[in-house]
Amino acid sequence: MAYKEDIERVLFDRDLIEQRTLELGRQIKADYTGKDLVVVTVLKGAFVFAADLTRAIDLPMVVDFAEIVSYGEGTETTEEVVLTKDVAVNVKGRDVLIVEDIVDTGLTTAFLVDHLRIRDPRSLEVCALLYKPAKQRVEVPLRYVGFEVGDVFVVGYGLDYAGKFRNLPEIAALKQVASEE
Ligand code: 5GP
Repeated sequence: MAYKEDIERVLFDRDLIEQRTLELGRQIKADYTGKDLVVVTVLKGAFVFAADLTRAIDLPMVVDFAEIVSYGEGTETTEEVVLTKDVAVNVKGRDVLIVEDIVDTGLTTAFLVDHLRIRDPRSLEVCALLYKPAKQRVEVPLRYVGFEVGDVFVVGYGLDYAGKFRNLPEIAALKQVASEE
């Protein structure tokens, strides 16, 4: 499989991502000071963002992980989402912040929100690195957004195409992987 030659253009470079992550960290610190923060990172796509974001939040916190797999080919989200790794920490009465790579239709995030809400957290909010407002189909408690993107398939900084590109340091659009819609 080709690699960097498949990149169409860089949308958000390392400096921009770093600057925005630091801003989000400051905002989250202001909002969660004095609370019982539990950061739940959604694997695999949010692992790079969460590593930087959590270190930008100057507060005590517990970090945990959930993995959700949506089955399907290509670049479109399917409606079949499966929780393949659950959070281990008890979230009851705590302030849970879900860290996502991207909210596209919102179906994946909504699935995890519903899954955690029944465990009775005190608060439950979402921070997404990327948000595609044009594609959203279901409501999610999206409190923090890194960047909005149009209807373009992006890779890098944790996001993949066919399992690859997660290690690209920047967020980029792929050649010839325009949305099928
Ligand atoms: P949603 O359920 O919001 O439609 O999509 C959620 C998941 O689809 C994301 O967590 C991500 O794994 C994948 N996804 C949606 N849009 C993109 C994109 O532009 N690039 C990549 N790499 N994954 C995407």
